[in-house]
Amino acid sequence: MASAQGQFMAFDEFGRPFIIMREQEKRARVKGLEAQRANISAARAVSNLLRTSLGPKGMDKILVSQDGDITITNDGATIMEKMDVKHQVAKLLVELSQSQDNEIGDGTTGVVILAGALLESALNLLDKGLHPLRICDGFEHACDIAVKHLEATSEELDVFANDNALLKKAAVTCLCSKVVSNHQEKLAAIAVEAVLDVADIKRKDVNFEHIKVEGKPGGSLEDTCLIRGIVIDKDMSHPQMAKVVNDAKIAILTCPFEPPKPKTKHKLEISNAEDYRKLYEQEQQYFVKMIEDVKNSGTNLVICQWGFDDEANYLLHANNLPAVRWVGGVEIELIAMATGARIVPRFSELSNDKLGRATCVREIGFGTTDDKMIVIEGCANTSAVTVLVRGGNKMIVDEARRCLHDALCVVRNFIKDSRVVYGGGCAELMASNEITKVVDLEPSIEQYAMRGFADALEDISNALAENSGLNPIETTTWLKNEMKNDPNKRFGVDCNGVGIYDMKELKVYESLQSKVQQLQLATQVVRMILKIDDVFAPSEYS
Ligand code: ADP
Ligand code: MG
Repeated sequence: MASAQGQFMAFDEFGRPFIIMREQEKRARVKGLEAQRANISAARAVSNLLRTSLGPKGMDKILVSQDGDITITNDGATIMEKMDVKHQVAKLLVELSQSQDNEIGDGTTGVVILAGALLESALNLLDKGLHPLRICDGFEHACDIAVKHLEATSEELDVFANDNALLKKAAVTCLCSKVVSNHQEKLAAIAVEAVLDVADIKRKDVNFEHIKVEGKPGGSLEDTCLIRGIVIDKDMSHPQMAKVVNDAKIAILTCPFEPPKPKTKHKLEISNAEDYRKLYEQEQQYFVKMIEDVKNSGTNLVICQWGFDDEANYLLHANNLPAVRWVGGVEIELIAMATGARIVPRFSELSNDKLGRATCVREIGFGTTDDKMIVIEGCANTSAVTVLVRGGNKMIVDEARRCLHDALCVVRNFIKDSRVVYGGGCAELMASNEITKVVDLEPSIEQYAMRGFADALEDISNALAENSGLNPIETTTWLKNEMKNDPNKRFGVDCNGVGIYDMKELKVYESLQSKVQQLQLATQVVRMILKIDDVFAPSEYS
């Protein structure tokens, strides 16, 4: 019994029907132009998902993991990472946003949308009969023109003028599309301060290892603060110990405050009261000796990797020695490096020169909750800073941390390279116009691909307009006309005012590097996708 699509119905020995699919392998494996089409549509599906997240009026997404954890985010790289895409070509787009995130930190949504738009253009060109490689060449040529034009028209601004106004504004622009937009001014100021604290302005270098972003659920985003030092999520081992230690001399111990324990093989027999008393006294001696060693070295704060016996805790408190216990190995190392302490494995080895120094160590509490943290400020060896993010719940704190990361990256990028282009789709449209101008002089058939590239660049302003409730085509045309009439102005989609406006006046800056990187990465990945004409997936044939 045969059906139309090459399916066969057969019956086994018990008369149960089953279907035999003929040429299944061929159907699972697409080749040539079909493969390119299938790949492009998979990649477009992913990039379309991100489209609504672009810009200040962009929407957030909820992503549910396999264990039911949810993440709410607006950040392109995070959405892509958590989306768990299976399609091999769509995965390339995930990596695309990741590379933008690693290199630049911001612009992760934009780059995916750009790649999606380029792929759509490519599809039209494939349908016209253009060879995929000719399309790639045309796109690359156009990308070069776009990058050169952006470099030529970019403006070098003094980022430190007016009390770092430009840096703050750039950070605000980055944050305005996020959940935290209500507190954008405060978070932007924190980001700028944090980066400037650790930046080496002369070398135009910022070491991100010195900026830690810690989160603690509770309180509100308003309580987020910058701490010039290290924060550890611990408290003093005894509630009555001093909460503030000025001019701290810190002993970092990796040995517990406990008497040596008999190993399992040994047997200790106590047969009378005298023996017990002796043992007790001997134990006391150990504790007294430990505390003495600590005291004699000049320590006024103990940080210990292990726990304390109650007796030791009592004695530490009685001797005015504030102490923190169960501090993890990584944090121990961090504190040791920052304060210049040596990690001490035995009490007998404690000495004054092995202590770490900090101007102030204090325990901070959070409003009505029991939560406490230890803050070590003014560390001897480092200028490390910590941004302590607060927020109503874990999801908000996590998202705020991601937003701050973007803002920190933006500020760093401006310090590294202070050339700016303007946002709101302005930079893309300028590049698009330039390509259209050059294209008429192009004799080869690459001109079709270049036109396609120019069209694709319009997609950013289309998406921004769409997300702000404007008619995309109308807005983009309007923008292009205004740009032609007044080439010195930098018109873009004004998402908040709803219409178009001079981005220079609105101060919607984006770093030149970020835009250039977006264009180049998107072009590269599109080239990669277009060059694939066959997909082998071993699991489908086994
Ligand atoms: P990405 O992850 O790509 O950074 P965003 O959601 O941060 O995505 O959106 C960035 C886009 O929004 C950029 O094209 C930028 O120019 C634009 N944009 C940001 N702020 C404004 C604004 N106030 N007015 C118009 N466009 C803006
Ligand atoms: Mg952004």
